[in-house]
Amino acid sequence: MKVKDPICGMTVDTDRAPEKGSYAGQWVYFCSAACKKRYEAAHGGH
Ligand SMILES: [Zn+2]
Repeated sequence: MKVKDPICGMTVDTDRAPEKGSYAGQWVYFCSAACKKRYEAAHGGH
């Protein structure tokens, strides 16, 4: 499945996403660790 990286807007394949995290029970996928860090900084982490 293809989803959008919420930070940079890049399309990320959920099977190959380099980084992902579960926030409020929902998986969010990122193109890189840097985007994940930025997301967590904006959303209170973990
Ligand atoms: Zn990104």
